[in-house]
Amino acid sequence: MEKGQMNERHCEWAGCGRQAGRGWDVDEKSYCGPHYFPGLERAFLEEYARWNGESEPTDKFKNLFGRYAERLYPAGGMPDKLSRGRIEMRATAWKKVPSGLEFSVERHLTAYRWSGPVRTVNQEWRFGLQTKDLSLVREQEVITRKLGIFTSMATPSSHARSRVGL
Ligand SMILES: [Zn+2]
Repeated sequence: MEKGQMNERHCEWAGCGRQAGRGWDVDEKSYCGPHYFPGLERAFLEEYARWNGESEPTDKFKNLFGRYAERLYPAGGMPDKLSRGRIEMRATAWKKVPSGLEFSVERHLTAYRWSGPVRTVNQEWRFGLQTKDLSLVREQEVITRKLGIFTSMATPSSHARSRVGL
């Protein structure tokens, strides 16, 4: 595409025609500032409708969803410090649910009571299409690195501490 054309692109939202801004492209369509979010929302909902809800969604889907969620929670305000990057790069186990979608993401949290070691938890998040929000459905411990004191006991970590001395 030529530079001249880039500068003269117009918003593709029906009936708008204002000059489109750089960085407001969605799925190869150009939008003006006020129509970037509705354009993004529409593109995401179209991808959502296309997705079978079982297989892993496409990178395009993840990108649109990540950008959409980022817009809904501006200035890094997603719950539990979730971020667009984490959603796009690290989310797994995507599935469609009646209210929207769910995905899992592994998080590494510091376990203060254990004076420092990192706790790994698997969080299951749900995004509601109507409510337009993210909610934590479940959080499960994956691994606790406890400096090798004991490693083989398959106990939930909340009970593990009392067993250290055994
Ligand atoms: Zn527009």
